[in-house]
Amino acid sequence: MAEQKEEKKREISEALKAEETLTSKWYVLDTEGKLHELSVTDGKVTGYDFKKHPNLQKFAQYEMAKNRVYEKEPPHIELMRKLEMVDFEKGSDSGNLRFYPNGRFVKKMLERYVSDEVVKYGAMEIESPIMYDCEHPALKSYLHRFPARQYIVESLKKKYFLRFAACFGQFLMAHDMSISHKNLPVRLYELTRYSFRLEQSGELCGLKRLRAFTMPDCHAFVKDFEQGKEEMLRRFDLAWSIIQGIGLKLPDDMELGIRFVREFYEEHKDLAMALVKRFNKPVILEMWEKRFFYFAMKYEFNFIDAMGKATGMVTDQFDVENAERYDINFIDEDGKKKHPIILHLSPSGAIERDMYALLEKAWMEEQKDKAAMLPVWLSPEQIRIMPVADRHMEHAEKIAKELEAANIRVGVDDRSIGVGKKVFQAKMAWVPYIIVIGDKEAAATKLPVVIRAKSKPKEDTQEEMSVKDIINEISGLTHGKPTGLLPVAKYVSKRPIFVARQ
Ligand SMILES: [Zn+2]
Repeated sequence: MAEQKEEKKREISEALKAEETLTSKWYVLDTEGKLHELSVTDGKVTGYDFKKHPNLQKFAQYEMAKNRVYEKEPPHIELMRKLEMVDFEKGSDSGNLRFYPNGRFVKKMLERYVSDEVVKYGAMEIESPIMYDCEHPALKSYLHRFPARQYIVESLKKKYFLRFAACFGQFLMAHDMSISHKNLPVRLYELTRYSFRLEQSGELCGLKRLRAFTMPDCHAFVKDFEQGKEEMLRRFDLAWSIIQGIGLKLPDDMELGIRFVREFYEEHKDLAMALVKRFNKPVILEMWEKRFFYFAMKYEFNFIDAMGKATGMVTDQFDVENAERYDINFIDEDGKKKHPIILHLSPSGAIERDMYALLEKAWMEEQKDKAAMLPVWLSPEQIRIMPVADRHMEHAEKIAKELEAANIRVGVDDRSIGVGKKVFQAKMAWVPYIIVIGDKEAAATKLPVVIRAKSKPKEDTQEEMSVKDIINEISGLTHGKPTGLLPVAKYVSKRPIFVARQ
């Protein structure tokens, strides 16, 4: 029994323990390169005038004064259920969610988009196992360098841990590869479905903090610090473009946190400055006196949600330790074997977190008197056509066909209910375009279209558009993004209800 307890204790990584006791100094680094040292007095972060940067203040409060507890449930949790996207699953462990067709669709589109962009940047997509031998020497020692708790599964004779990132599979693969200096940087990419972290149950939070999540993870193996810095900046630009592509605004919707080991900072201030210049607003800089983890620096983009809490999304790290641990080598110009430096990038953060951020943002927009919605390319149903009576069905079908031919996802509300109710339900489902077809519309060439992006929560904006106008507008808004088929039945009468309406 005592032995078992001892065993349990050891499974909590050294890095996790270090993180809990870690002391560091905090600064604001402004766009001029000036450091402003921060401190906490009476639960308030002081040392910088945050007046023009309220979200940076919230981020600092979250990080330094540890204002992390949600007083109220963040709004995305109600929304993810109301929109029939995601729900809790009592039959699994907490933090392992179920995705309904709408949620699976949004997630799939995000997964495709992020993965395609990472491959365009030059990464090679791979796939690796989700569980690893607890006794493998390199893995065992790495476990203790990463601040995360893990699930353990048992087979007949051995214990395995479920991966909490893609590092394991990619490093074991890189160990077996023959890499020349001419190949560098070598970039490997995996979309981990899933990565697992056994977060404490009190910390679990809807789509924000889960125990099973989908993490796009891209490692770059680089020759030296110089190549590493150059590559990190290229990846920063990649992440920037991905976050904007997803539908968040930069730098408005994010705050940048940069963390350095002091010695590394003194030598590579140019890297910190290059990041701040790119971000184009002041950032929080955390400085560690000593190196506790395997990385000498890291940064992350933090989203500030409707409750004023920060959530790390994009992150990249400068890893100076693992190439040696996993014996990863390249042959340099002089013919000698050398260890590369490794960068660990998640170019979007967990896909579930992207969904969380989009829902929280939509809710915040609604408070500013804008109709809440998802970007048009991510909306499961882009347009809904509603015949007023059965005799308008034929015309509704004709329009639906023309739109479908242009790869637009169209629903037809064929139910025998009042058109007012049909419109109300389409709005509740955040459908971006709504068209009602009655006698007048059936005879006209232009249709009255309710455009959600231009509407207020209680006031619709309607424009007269031809089918061609609609196709042009939606194609423009979805250009360069993945396309997908409508994830539910085209006819609303054929759709089952996944989440009972309250
Ligand atoms: Zn990694």
